Amino acid sequence: MIEDKNQQRTSIAELGEFGLISHLTQNFKIKQTTTVKAVGDDAAVLDFKNKQTLITTDLLVEGVHFDLSYMPLKHLGYKAVMVNLSDVYAMNGNATQITVSIAVSNRFPLEALEELYEGIHLACETYAVDLVGGDTTSSTKGLLISITAIGEVTKKEAVYRNTAKPNDLLVVTGDLGAAYLGLQVLEREKQVFKVNPNSQPDLTPYTYLVERQLKPEARKDIVKLLKDLEVKPTSMIDISDGLSSEIIHICTQSKVGCNLFEEKIPLDPQVISTCEEFELNSTTIALSGGEDYELLFTISQKDYPKIKANPNLTVIGHITDESEGMNLITRANQKVKLTAQGWNALFNKKED
Ligand code: ADP
Ligand code: MG
Repeated sequence: MIEDKNQQRTSIAELGEFGLISHLTQNFKIKQTTTVKAVGDDAAVLDFKNKQTLITTDLLVEGVHFDLSYMPLKHLGYKAVMVNLSDVYAMNGNATQITVSIAVSNRFPLEALEELYEGIHLACETYAVDLVGGDTTSSTKGLLISITAIGEVTKKEAVYRNTAKPNDLLVVTGDLGAAYLGLQVLEREKQVFKVNPNSQPDLTPYTYLVERQLKPEARKDIVKLLKDLEVKPTSMIDISDGLSSEIIHICTQSKVGCNLFEEKIPLDPQVISTCEEFELNSTTIALSGGEDYELLFTISQKDYPKIKANPNLTVIGHITDESEGMNLITRANQKVKLTAQGWNALFNKKED
């Protein structure tokens, strides 16, 4: 949060647009055989042969989607890629290429963009995706980043949101709510820093939460795991807006209902302790927190033995007939209607 006043600041104007693009993209190496032509021509050329192409895009705006006072640019670059790859994996696909478009105000020196691209580069290396293009322009205020991810999936393997069936099991990967709490911790530190710029925040009790907010990982490993286990989900979605809203998407589009069991929702111990400290209800946070980038999917009951021993996967409920509605079964065994709670609901005090 403390700016280094001595750091080098090279004006972007010194390089010119083309100099800037080649400078930022020079270290990216092509890994995918489907990439025929990457950065440098009028358009990228990709060849997916007989596979279906997946395309997904996201636009991130400074001050709306991210705050650079606690989000280092390297992390922002990494996260902006993750958000997109997560959508490709949620189709049970393989992410292969990205394009990156940026609009930058003159507040940003070259070194800032280098940092942003360091994060993008790390994401490309780790997830084996190729940077194949983008656009670069100026903005009057702030930074905008738009990333498009491209992927491939065979017709047989593609998994949609609208194909869940009654009696299927509802499964979630990893644990939920941590990224939202990480944001709350960082927001709190920002306020403390405003009042006392010499304060040194101790984030030790919140390391997992902060990491989940600043450096999320898209679940490429789950797509592989499910293939290895020979399980094809009957429906799937990634958790970007909170468990509740994603379950509602699957149920509404599949024309089914569900029973979600509160006691089954996977929570990290740091989520539980921080919810106590902040006087928040951990179930509410998991249901409505968002930015977890885990996968939510349904499987046929016959596949249960294949997944039951896996620590990455938790069965949290089951699909029912549409007429039964979408329900949360509380720890007290009460049936509550699932709602896509707005952000305001999160600021209510803990009820139990
Ligand atoms: P054009 O004028 O034809 O749109 P550009 O000069 O914008 O071409 O881009 C030249 C090449 O650099 C293209 O391959 C484009 O996709 C790529 N490119 C432009 N901006 C970026 C960026 N921010 N990141 C990655 N590649 C980029
Ligand atoms: Mg262009």
